[in-house]
Amino acid sequence: MILITGGAGYIGSHTTMALLEKGEDIIVFDSLDTGHIETIETLKNYGNLKFVKGNLKNLDEIRGVFMSNKIDSVIHFAAFSQVGESVTNPQKYYYNNVYGTLNLLNAMLEFGVKKIVFSSTAATYGEPEYTPIDESHPQNPINPYGNTKLMVEKIMDDYNKAYGLKSVRLRYFNVAGADTNTRIGEWHEPETHLIPNVLKATKEQTFKLFGTDYNTIDGTCVRDYINVEDLAQAHICALMYLNNGGETNYFNLGTKTGNSVKEVFSVCEKIKGEKIPLEYLPRREGDPAILVADNTKAKQILNWNPNKSLEDSIKTANEWNKILTNKQY
Ligand code: UDP
Repeated sequence: MILITGGAGYIGSHTTMALLEKGEDIIVFDSLDTGHIETIETLKNYGNLKFVKGNLKNLDEIRGVFMSNKIDSVIHFAAFSQVGESVTNPQKYYYNNVYGTLNLLNAMLEFGVKKIVFSSTAATYGEPEYTPIDESHPQNPINPYGNTKLMVEKIMDDYNKAYGLKSVRLRYFNVAGADTNTRIGEWHEPETHLIPNVLKATKEQTFKLFGTDYNTIDGTCVRDYINVEDLAQAHICALMYLNNGGETNYFNLGTKTGNSVKEVFSVCEKIKGEKIPLEYLPRREGDPAILVADNTKAKQILNWNPNKSLEDSIKTANEWNKILTNKQY
């Protein structure tokens, strides 16, 4: 059985769906602080899924899961992930993302589970020194969120050396899109991400574009948008890598292609088939001009093949946005 923490969230639910469809037995552990019970109910229709509502900050709750289930490996998504909030409320981030993970790792060690795939982030690199970013790029996070993820990566290195706990750390760039069959999708409250914010904009609530004076092709920030189903497949590849005896490792997950905010905006307009109300605002604090992944290592070592385009992602995101807007989930 595979334990998935944070399986009710955006990336966690798409990975859970992909694993259920492969016939894997899954147990999702989620506090539902940011995830949704409706997502779990949907997932239950597609395979053998057990759900435990619990919080990693409570060691006994996560120990109980290992005690009552035969867990073979773990995929760890559960974390808070809003950069801005991490600056104003670092306590929430260190306590949940670092202390919570320590509890999970301690339970794994106690019950002899030695394989974990971990959601890390491009935010561990901080302000890029060169682009595209490969895995040798220095890791100097510029906000508490990135710090929490880097700390966990370091803890995992030390636990590997001392206890033989094998980890694969997946450093996501910008994740986009929804399930091809629109069963699940991106559902954050509040929503801070570019694509859902563009798609849901109205005359009353216009889309706010942050910053047009960056040193990029059109003055807006450039990001690498990786499709969420391609990303889910990377987790399956990472698990296979560990199951085949792979050593602790880390990989960038992106497409190696950059798109500016203006480009994303115009693809959204094209797919929606209408003008989207737009307002220009000054730069948002902490946004680097360009973030693009060099994904060579993940392709070579994990045999991962992302094949969905930005347009594919925006099409599924748009279908999912209709469902969210009409409360049809
Ligand atoms: N962005 C924007 N308006 C929004 C949300 C995002 O202009 O409502 C911009 C943001 O400044 C960044 C890019 O879109 O340049 C991607 O932001 P997002 O929050 O989606 O991901 P991040 O790159 O911060 O992880």
